[in-house]
Amino acid sequence: MSYVFPIHKIPVLSVAGTEDVFPVHRIYCVGQNYSEHMYEMGSNPQRDAPFFFSKPADAVFHQNSQISYPPVTKNLHHEIELVVAIGEKGNKISKSEALNHVFGYTVGLDLTRRDLQQEAKKKGRPWAVAKGFDHSAPCSVLHKVDEVGYLEKGSITLRVNGEIRQQGDISEMIWSVPEIISILSGFFELCPGDLIFTGTPSGVGPLKRGDKLEGAVEKLTKLEIKIV
Ligand code: MN
Repeated sequence: MSYVFPIHKIPVLSVAGTEDVFPVHRIYCVGQNYSEHMYEMGSNPQRDAPFFFSKPADAVFHQNSQISYPPVTKNLHHEIELVVAIGEKGNKISKSEALNHVFGYTVGLDLTRRDLQQEAKKKGRPWAVAKGFDHSAPCSVLHKVDEVGYLEKGSITLRVNGEIRQQGDISEMIWSVPEIISILSGFFELCPGDLIFTGTPSGVGPLKRGDKLEGAVEKLTKLEIKIV
């Protein structure tokens, strides 16, 4: 048996302080997980069950930290997020067991075609083209739990051209990382290589060509991306 064309490149993230890479399996994202962001999106921060969407694994790819402004949108938005990397398989994981499945953390951008998302919301359509486009999930290097511990608090910020656009603290999440893992693993078997984007604080806004983004979560390596 042979493949009818060469196998696609496996998307990977570098593991900080090692020569190793983390092969990405799936990308899950949590919607609206910080109350200030819910207000700015016109929602109420009641503690409704969290909702999820996904992106293709190869959305982590970028070219030398540059991302081309995507087609079919006039309103590309930044969402800075803490990203949890899964290292152990599991389904129906309990909240108390959840952190045992965490391999590490990174800083990621949930890039969003906001105009297409708003249209989809209005018409009750899926978010795939608004959220799951090429290069829509750039991430920094991964840090292992052994190195940084379990992250429960710490600042999360996004600067665009040096100016602060988003600022919050990961302790402000409506659904904590153990709760997210527990609930998500009821829908899908989580696997080593899965990434979970955990939601963005308030301050989301539009990007244009030439913008330089610097995303940071305390203890983690910054994510630096330029839109071209
Ligand atoms: Mn998001």
